[in-house]
Amino acid sequence: MLTDLQRHIEATPLCDTHEHLRKEHEILAEKPDVLREIFENYVSADLRVAGATQAQVDAALWSKDLDVAARFAPLEEAWRATRFTGYGEASRYIAKRFFGIEELSGRALAKAQELLPERWPEGDRMRVLRDEARLDHVQVDDFCWPCQPDASGPEFFLYDISWLNFCAGDLVSKGLLREGESFSMRPLFDETGVEVKDLGSLREAMEKLFEKYAPCAIAVKAQHAYMRTLAWRERSDEEAAAVLEAALAGRERSEEEKNVLGDWCWARGAELAAKHNLPFKLHTGYYAGHSRMPVSRIAAGQLCPLLARYPETRWVLMHIAYPYDDEIVALAKHYPNVWVDFCWAWSINPLASMNFLRRYLHAAPINKLFAFGGDTGRPRAAAAYAMQARKWLNKALQAEVDDRELSEAQALEVVDRLFQRNARACFDLDGVRARIRERLGVPPSSNNS
Ligand SMILES: [Zn+2]
Repeated sequence: MLTDLQRHIEATPLCDTHEHLRKEHEILAEKPDVLREIFENYVSADLRVAGATQAQVDAALWSKDLDVAARFAPLEEAWRATRFTGYGEASRYIAKRFFGIEELSGRALAKAQELLPERWPEGDRMRVLRDEARLDHVQVDDFCWPCQPDASGPEFFLYDISWLNFCAGDLVSKGLLREGESFSMRPLFDETGVEVKDLGSLREAMEKLFEKYAPCAIAVKAQHAYMRTLAWRERSDEEAAAVLEAALAGRERSEEEKNVLGDWCWARGAELAAKHNLPFKLHTGYYAGHSRMPVSRIAAGQLCPLLARYPETRWVLMHIAYPYDDEIVALAKHYPNVWVDFCWAWSINPLASMNFLRRYLHAAPINKLFAFGGDTGRPRAAAAYAMQARKWLNKALQAEVDDRELSEAQALEVVDRLFQRNARACFDLDGVRARIRERLGVPPSSNNS
């Protein structure tokens, strides 16, 4: 029998503050594949760490020559070692909830594959996320500047302006850094019509980007902790101008020089985000993938000079900075302009996340914490991550109730805050939805779909 707390957690729509969802047309173009649905997400990194080779993972996900059982067979041993991790738990949830598979095996997978349609039906992405995962809306980082209304759910799929490449100070391009790309101002010119020749024109181009995309954006986002340290320092115009000049002249720049320009651009992003009433989300803590994480880069405590320097900017620190999650509690307790996002954390380490919630609750104000983001590309994976978040969040709050630290009514209120109210207080949801409707010429009464 479900407790009142469980029922409330299951019934309350979650504001999903972070995904990298594939676009509707990409999902409709692909032939549904049970192995990709279950394993093309974070779990593939655990499989590699457990001993599967990259070739085995790639063949399992993408081989056109082998049947489903044959593709899975080389992964089976690594899967058995991985199934209890947070990523593994989510894979089990996808298998069970969407494909009726209790225990993953070649036979069960082959049977499930036979039942899949030739194509996912139109609107499948929205249906899974809204109706099955019970999400209120989804905030998507698609690694680029443009934040145009998404025709497949204009008020449901909301987008972040990517500030990644500016913060990385490495190259100013339209989207995600691609291998072999070199420093170029061309994409910025294409978007803004401003030819960047110096720091003044770079500043002007940044302002133009915000004027163009901020009205329909939900936030600004940067995950440059994958490329450089999170440590930020104030940089003068002179310092930054010298590095920009070198970059424009095509000269190689040192890591420190890239950080100089990156810090300067990051600071301008902080100012513009505050001016346009957009929270600024930062990746902190653990890396996706495997075999590349330098822990010295990722601790959130290194952000202190930035948090203190820009008190008017609303900073959203993502992923609870695991494994530096105690630092995040201290930052949330100390800085009024810090919010903390559980996105992806439940699947990185569910038990640490559960304990984090309890430690946070007794240290920092509870109106600064967001419950969930799946941080993934496929809707069924996002739905499984949401199931996982609900499960472990219930465990944490039930433990608080059992220890008589919270009454059940207080636990229900915490759920309302973490699922809904805190996000609505930090992000201008009503405002952005109204501007999107206005842009599309839709009357104000329309609902999410
Ligand atoms: Zn992400």
